[in-house]
Amino acid sequence: MESGNSQFFVGIDIGGTKIQVVIADRHGAIHGEARKKHKGAVDFEWVVGRSVAAVDAALDKAKLGRKEISALGIGAPSPILPDGTAVHAPNLGWQNVPLVATFAQELGWPTYAANDCDAGTFGEHRFGAGQAAQTVVGLFMGTGIGGGLVRNGEILAGDNYQGAEFGHTKVQVGGQRCGCGARGCLEAYASKLGIASFVAHQVNCEGRETMLTELCDGDYRSLRSSALAKAYRATDAVAVAAIDQAADYLGIGVANAITLLAPSVIVLGGGVIEALGSLLLNRVVSAAEQASWPPGSFADTSIRLAKLGDHAVALGAAAWAIQRGQF
Ligand SMILES: [Zn+2]
Repeated sequence: MESGNSQFFVGIDIGGTKIQVVIADRHGAIHGEARKKHKGAVDFEWVVGRSVAAVDAALDKAKLGRKEISALGIGAPSPILPDGTAVHAPNLGWQNVPLVATFAQELGWPTYAANDCDAGTFGEHRFGAGQAAQTVVGLFMGTGIGGGLVRNGEILAGDNYQGAEFGHTKVQVGGQRCGCGARGCLEAYASKLGIASFVAHQVNCEGRETMLTELCDGDYRSLRSSALAKAYRATDAVAVAAIDQAADYLGIGVANAITLLAPSVIVLGGGVIEALGSLLLNRVVSAAEQASWPPGSFADTSIRLAKLGDHAVALGAAAWAIQRGQF
């Protein structure tokens, strides 16, 4: 086996609409990558086949063969049990699939897996905005709100491996309906779906006009982060109100994480943050300052934008494989 800096690792991010693969070294440098889109709710065997094809495409770009890979890490939108079972991935329609065993058999590498937001947080901890921090909370603002928690270099997901679900903590009694079925979740306000339902209400119930209607052909649930950023920068009143409200709620989520955990770093990532990050950060921080306790915990927490962009999950998965396998 090769040693030291010449080892290579594969990270796969299995998302709700895409599969992304990186070939990385132990310092987080990317030597090759590939991405394949899909339409969601795809069966497990199909995803395995597409993932293997993406791995081979990424290896080609890196000019590496399968034999030169030391280990594989996978990030998937599901709780992951220690035996590598993905318990439930609502966005993909999976129940109890043997994620690690199947990929290990297909590709022949030592294989490890983590929940995608845990992997993203771990990636930011190893290579991005949370380096050298003892406790890192990651909050990822995309279609939903994903959360992850890393402490002393380990992913903390609770004793049943299904915890750290920051997006489904409640911020409003009897509030908006969330994708999980409950009401008043952080995700129902601070995610792209929360923004979409605010905009739809303004247009359909309050009779307001917004450039977002044209940018998404009236299908607000399909609003892209880039469209939100465009309307926000153009100071479209409905877009500004919707996004400011989401930022205020994200600030509550940040405050709750500070109050519970007093982490040294909270990393904010995800598609909406990538598109709007620096425009939103001050508002999120000031909402967090008002809502967190004690003031000393707010002062001791650094709230930062993610650095790894949409590579966070794949790189974090590779880093998780390096750590778990002690490569
Ligand atoms: Zn929920």
